[in-house]
Amino acid sequence: MSDDDFTVIRSQVKDFVRKQVVPRELEIMDTDAIPEDLRAKVRDMGLFGYAIPQEFGGLGLNLVQDVELAMELGYTSLALRSMFGTNNGIAGQVLVGFGTDEQKQQWLGRLASGEVVASFALTEPGAGSNPAGLRTKAVRDGEDWVLNGDKRWITNAPLADLFVTFARTRPADGSGAGIAVFLVPADTPGVSVGVKDRKMGQEGAWTSDVTFTDVRVPASAIIGGSEDVGYRAALTSLARGRVHIAALSVGAAQRALDESVAFAAASTQGGTPIGSFQLVQAMLADMQAGVMAGRALARDAAAMWVSGEDRRIAPSVAKLFCTEMVGKVADLAVQIHGGTGYMREVPVERIYREVRLLRLYEGTSEIQRLIIGGGLVKAAQQGR
Ligand SMILES: Cc1cc2nc3c(=O)[nH]c(=O)nc-3n(C[C@H](O)[C@H](O)[C@H](O)COP(=O)(O)OP(=O)(O)OC[C@H]3O[C@@H](n4cnc5c(N)ncnc54)[C@H](O)[C@@H]3O)c2cc1C
Repeated sequence: MSDDDFTVIRSQVKDFVRKQVVPRELEIMDTDAIPEDLRAKVRDMGLFGYAIPQEFGGLGLNLVQDVELAMELGYTSLALRSMFGTNNGIAGQVLVGFGTDEQKQQWLGRLASGEVVASFALTEPGAGSNPAGLRTKAVRDGEDWVLNGDKRWITNAPLADLFVTFARTRPADGSGAGIAVFLVPADTPGVSVGVKDRKMGQEGAWTSDVTFTDVRVPASAIIGGSEDVGYRAALTSLARGRVHIAALSVGAAQRALDESVAFAAASTQGGTPIGSFQLVQAMLADMQAGVMAGRALARDAAAMWVSGEDRRIAPSVAKLFCTEMVGKVADLAVQIHGGTGYMREVPVERIYREVRLLRLYEGTSEIQRLIIGGGLVKAAQQGR
């Protein structure tokens, strides 16, 4: 998308978030749902397909534009972004990057319009940080594949029409991880979605277990038409998603900061605004520094992704720094609010709980450190 067109989209999204979603954050929290009228507006704005190519009906934003949008979306309840995040992100990008022409034609248009919600079904009990340990099996039976296994904490599973499902087709060996990715419509016999999980935060974003019992799909359901594409697809899709999560963190940190500045300027102790106390100013200064550093880093990592300069270490650096940063910023925001910050109706209380997830999913902070450190040493050993 051209820069001019993107400027318009970005300002529409910013307006929508600040004027229409922010005032309804408590409703989202209390009902554990995104109101249907907001969902319809999101669909009308094309957000279910913002990162899906225009030829399939999406907005076709690249990652540099994606991070700008993510910073706006991070400013409010993270459940809003979660509603269409999997279509554009970890699930949709597997199809965009690795699907066959037929698979793209079949699914991408409906993902972009929001008619279909896709979930990314990788994690299993015992296979989270290390997806190579996954045990869901796909066994060839004539022209079909038959899947059996259990997935857990799958975002949007209770609403999903399509599961982008990772399964082992053979033991890992020298030629690869032995993991393929299958497109499994949610109404396929044998697919069972568990009850909605009860989580710490991000009310309105739903996860649940998904069980596959003798689920039969045709050979055309395998991503890229090959058993050997899946694992690479997962790693690439997750790496791209890390830059997006970094930008989302910056948006949430900016909101926590804005709430804190407003509170510090208005709230008094003994008649003195708490913002006059230098120890409070120091907290605000640390928050501002974190937000600005995170914003620059997320933008830099996105530019390196788009140019192809670095699609491995930079995404992990951005996710590690920005998700840790927003954790600290949210903590300081609660501190500045004093007891008020511990109360349910106050935005920083919600932000404090919501951003905790960002350090856990799509690769924990420890896994990002392993990718960064391991990548640096490997490059040195290869003389790069
Ligand atoms: C709300 C929510 C939504 C989610 N949505 C999805 C989804 O849509 N699709 C999906 O597939 N998954 C999803 N997940 C799963 C998520 O990606 C995993 O929880 C995450 O990858 C961590 O895996 P785990 O929970 O098994 O923890 P573990 O991997 O068991 O980690 C536990 C601890 O051990 C550390 N650790 C693990 N391995 C190492 C190592 N080698 N070296 C050092 N430390 C290590 C971790 O960093 C962590 O601190 C979701 C999870 C949540 C909570």
